Amino acid sequence: MALSTQTLNFALAICTKKLSSIGDLVRSSAATAVLAAFANNTPLAILRCLLGLLIVAAVLHPSSECQIARPDVTTKAIAQFERKPLQTTSLGDDIYLLAGDGANIVAVADRSSTLLIDSGMESRTSELNSAVFSATHRPITEVINTNWHFDHTGGNEWLHQAGASILAHENTRKHLSVDTRVEGWVYTFPAAPAGAIPTTVFQDEHTVHANGSTLALKRYEPAHTDSDISVHFTEADVLHTGDTFWNRNYPFIDYSTGGSIDGQIRAAESNLAKVSATTIVIPGHGEVSTGKADLTLFRDVLAETREKVAKLKKQGRTLEEVIAAKPTVAHDAEWGQGFQTPTTFLTWVYQGV
Ligand SMILES: [Zn+2]
Repeated sequence: MALSTQTLNFALAICTKKLSSIGDLVRSSAATAVLAAFANNTPLAILRCLLGLLIVAAVLHPSSECQIARPDVTTKAIAQFERKPLQTTSLGDDIYLLAGDGANIVAVADRSSTLLIDSGMESRTSELNSAVFSATHRPITEVINTNWHFDHTGGNEWLHQAGASILAHENTRKHLSVDTRVEGWVYTFPAAPAGAIPTTVFQDEHTVHANGSTLALKRYEPAHTDSDISVHFTEADVLHTGDTFWNRNYPFIDYSTGGSIDGQIRAAESNLAKVSATTIVIPGHGEVSTGKADLTLFRDVLAETREKVAKLKKQGRTLEEVIAAKPTVAHDAEWGQGFQTPTTFLTWVYQGV
């Protein structure tokens, strides 16, 4: 099934909407069967149907592990990614930040066109397109994806059909081209439609020019996924880190496509090595920051959490016990309000230590 017909209104909604619709389907079928059995007035058929309902209820009941992570992930993702108003901010040098559409999106106005870094949620593409046009007054002709996830590539097909080319790391094309399971979301993303697949890919580095600016693209070693790239506006000294940096937000870590807590920490170190005190740093999620302070805090929170969770796991503590020990309590009020809750973040860390 094509990604465009899914919009994972989204993927996460997936977890709730998809599963509940399957549940509804099964429940309605079962109810129909029971009514038919009663209509036919056959006790054996009624008994069989009631037994069937019991089995259905058992199958649909989520496991205890699901109860730990899923509800918050889906609810918060939908709330944050689909209902937050789009906000456009000028960063100077004809570079604009569009926040609110899932990931942080950047638009660069060139003489007659606009280059876009990430294409946001599929369900919001026309809204994003209008906001970009209001800012740059030029059509989008090129899109760069900083990783393969739905909140960075959702608008690819729409924008490609409107004439944009799509550039990404080769693993973004790889994952979008086939059905790809993300265990952390308990969802298999169907292969994206042909129009959403990147038209140009690279392995390690790639350079793009827009409006007199040099955009240096560089892959990270697997971190959030195995398709993460950074985009550095060399002259303006603006660094877009993609999802290797979530400013004052706990990150999602996609182990299914190469991510890991250790990879996230290494990527945070590499970001720190790239920035100066005046570099404008655009995270994949969260507020834009300047210099090293927020990046350092992100690296420290990740490293500190990793250490605490590893110690508890080594002592034989279960995931539930680690969550109950609240090793991130000092940051939870601020960092746990976004896409990831303290519980889901601890789940991802526990998995990798
Ligand atoms: Zn993201």
